[in-house]
Amino acid sequence: MNRKVAILGATGTVGQRFIQLLQGHPWFKIEVLAASQKSAGKKYEDACAWTMESDLPRGIAKMDVLSTDLESVESAGNVDLVFSSLPGDIAGPIEAEFATKYPVFSKASAHRQDEDVPLLIPEVNPEHVALITIQKKTRGWKGFITTDPNCCTIQLAITLKPLMNFGLQQVIISTMQALSGAGYPGVPSLDIIDNVVPFIPKEEEKMQSESLKILGVFDGTRVRNANFLLSASCNRVNVKDGHLESVFAKLEKDPKLEEVEAAFERFEGEPQRLRLPSAPERPIVVRKEPNRPQPRYDRCEGKGMSVVVGRIRKDPIMSVKYLCLGHNTIRGGAGAGILSAEFMVTKGLA
Ligand code: NAP
Repeated sequence: MNRKVAILGATGTVGQRFIQLLQGHPWFKIEVLAASQKSAGKKYEDACAWTMESDLPRGIAKMDVLSTDLESVESAGNVDLVFSSLPGDIAGPIEAEFATKYPVFSKASAHRQDEDVPLLIPEVNPEHVALITIQKKTRGWKGFITTDPNCCTIQLAITLKPLMNFGLQQVIISTMQALSGAGYPGVPSLDIIDNVVPFIPKEEEKMQSESLKILGVFDGTRVRNANFLLSASCNRVNVKDGHLESVFAKLEKDPKLEEVEAAFERFEGEPQRLRLPSAPERPIVVRKEPNRPQPRYDRCEGKGMSVVVGRIRKDPIMSVKYLCLGHNTIRGGAGAGILSAEFMVTKGLA
């Protein structure tokens, strides 16, 4: 199970979270750190403004940061797999180059909608990994690319999956998204103090298109999008970590609230059955208090890998409404990438 890993975008918000979460990981050891030309050639501690809650690990601080190209990474050490937390607008060709040789686990949006690339949440659509075999064959790659959804979409899709048993027809979401979702240094402080910014570029489009692919059906050759309507409205709020979403769902059936609550609480997937190192015991935790979930109190549930649901109510226009909260740089970020990699390793794919 032991794998040496490279992190591309290692100095950024998600890259730092990868480093933090991989400390002491039973299977994965960090071998290479890479970032932009601005950082390449520096020691990690000089290249990075460390913003995690725990101290920068000493061994990592003294590592050299490499430039993000295949040649530099290969010459630095034997790598088995690659985590990419590069910006979406530059990730495409770089990830494709690495995938000619290595499994690439991408946090970026560049390849999420490629027909032969999984948009994976191991609890929700594990069968979509079958796309990897098709991808390797058609592209002639030794490695592959698999992607995780956008941070808001991951937590939403985890809560929509159990609702599909009630016949999901329409979903409306309004988000309250944390500042770390915009990376570092992210949103200027004078734009967000005493304020809410009701626009996050491309976020609503991503939530709408990604949810349908994730919850779609793999038909043996490709994923057919799920057949429900989804509308998102995204807002940036003055919270460090943890995206809160207000969700309204219209269902074909008319379940009692207790049945909806039980469906959330009972939900689990292959990562739980396989006991993967990063799998939370419960992917969804339901809070019963009328004023939960809240980012400050609930974002670290299940070491940041559980989605917290609360305020499950009947809705007079749709069927049910609830709030869900997820840690955007753990379940929505590096934690999801690591869980995907653990899942692929157990499947013999990485
Ligand atoms: P970030 O804090 O801005 O970090 C970006 C990283 O990419 C840094 O390491 C940066 O290196 C590197 N980079 C920038 N330009 C580069 C270039 N031209 N060549 C090579 N490396 C370059 O962003 P982030 O929030 O970590 O997000 C990274 C990716 O994850 C994005 O695609 C984002 O959409 C996605 N994502 C973010 C979150 C979240 O909550 N933040 C959650 C899920 C997915 P330097 O330090 O050297 O500039």
